[in-house]
Amino acid sequence: MDGDMTALPLVFDAPRRGTPPRHLADLTREEARAAVAELGQPPFRADQLYRHYFRGVTDPAQMTDLPAGVRDTLTEALLPGLLTVVRHQTADNGRTRKTLWRLHDGALVESVLMRYPDRATVCISSQAGCGMACPFCATGQAGLTRNLSAAEIIGQAVAAAAAMANGEIDGGPGRLSNVVFMGMGEPLANYARVRKTLDALLTPAPHGLGLSQRSVTVSTVGLVPAIRRLTEEGRNVTLAVSLHAPDDELRDTLVPINTRWNVGEVVEAADAYAARTGRRYSVEYALIRDVNDQPHRADLLGKLLAGRLAHVNLIPLNPTPGSPWDASPLPAQREFVARLRAAGVATTVRDTRGQDIDGACGQLAAADRVEGVPSVAVPVPSVEPPVELGAEGDD
Ligand code: SAH
Repeated sequence: MDGDMTALPLVFDAPRRGTPPRHLADLTREEARAAVAELGQPPFRADQLYRHYFRGVTDPAQMTDLPAGVRDTLTEALLPGLLTVVRHQTADNGRTRKTLWRLHDGALVESVLMRYPDRATVCISSQAGCGMACPFCATGQAGLTRNLSAAEIIGQAVAAAAAMANGEIDGGPGRLSNVVFMGMGEPLANYARVRKTLDALLTPAPHGLGLSQRSVTVSTVGLVPAIRRLTEEGRNVTLAVSLHAPDDELRDTLVPINTRWNVGEVVEAADAYAARTGRRYSVEYALIRDVNDQPHRADLLGKLLAGRLAHVNLIPLNPTPGSPWDASPLPAQREFVARLRAAGVATTVRDTRGQDIDGACGQLAAADRVEGVPSVAVPVPSVEPPVELGAEGDD
C-alpha cells in the first residue's frame, strides 16, 4: 500500500467561515412565524413561504397568493438564493445530472440526480469537501472547506424535486423519491444540520418534501458516537456504513477514522441502530483491485456480517485523479459476491452512474475542476484538536 495515500490528517472541526444569510429552511416554524411578524406580516405568511420553497418556486412574481407589495421583501428576508448553479452535466442518456453549485462565500459543492425506471434519487453534499481523508475518495483528498448550513443541504434536495416535477430530466415530469447523503462530506460530522435536513425531507408538505424514511439514506464513515445519537433520535432513515475492509489493519489505512472507532465498534453501533429501527443497514464496500478484494477478505467479511441485520453494497472503485488504485476486475467481483452470498450475507453490486462526468461515488471534487473559479479549499491544519463528536449546536 502506498504510504503517501494516507498522509492526510483527520479533521472534525470545520473551519469557520461567514455563515450564509438567514433562510427559512434554517428556522423552526415558530422562528419563521416570528420573522414574518417582524416584517409586519401576519404569521400565516410563513406557511405560504414554506409551500413555495418546497415546491422550488424562487421567483417572487410566481408567489401570487402573497400581496404583490410584500413578495420581494419576504423573499429577500427569508428565501435568499443560497445555491447558484455553476453548471449541469448530464450522462447516462440524460438520466443522470450532476450539478455544481456555488455557495454565498464561493465554496463549491455538487449534487447528482439519478433517474431510474421506478425511482429518482438525489445524492447530496453535507459539507464542502470532507475531513475524513479516505485515500481512495477524491473529496476526502481535497480536505474540508466547511460545513454546509441546513438550508444549503436542503436546497439541493428541493432543487432536485423541482427538476423532477418540471420535467428537466429525460423521461418527463416525475417525482423525487429518494435522497442519499453520499455526495461530498461526512454527514455525521455535521450532525445538527443533517438532522435538521432529515426533518425537512420527511415532513409532509407544505413544511417539507414528504419523503418516506426508508427512502432517505445517511452514509457514514462510522462516527460511532453520532451513530448512537442517531439511534436515540428515533428516526428510521436507512443507515449505510462505509466499511471497505473487514479487518482493522487494512481499514486503518482505507478509512483512517478506523484508528478511532474500529470495525467491531462500528458494526456494533450499526447493529444497535438496526435493532431499534427493525430494518437492515447497508455496508458499503468499494472493491479495489488487489487491495481489499481478495477471496480471504470476502470470507472474513462474510464471517463478520453473517447473522447481522445488514446487507452489503459493493461499489467497484471509481478511479480518482492521482490515485494508483483501480476497480477490481469482473472475475474478482463475482468471486467476492459469491463468497459473501455463500456466507448468507445479502449482497448487491452498485450500478455506477455518472462515471464519465466524474459524478460517481467518490469522484465529487468540485473545487478542483472549475476553470476561472478559484478553489476555496483552506489548508488543512496538521494537528487537529480532539473534539466531542456530535455535539449539538456547534454553530
Ligand atoms: N462520508 C460518507 C459519504 C461518502 S460517499 C461516507 O463515507 O459514507 C458514499 C460512498 O462512496 C462511501 O461509501 C464512500 O466510501 C464511497 N466512495 C468514496 N470514494 C469512492 C470511490 N473512488 N469509488 C467508489 N466508492 C467510493
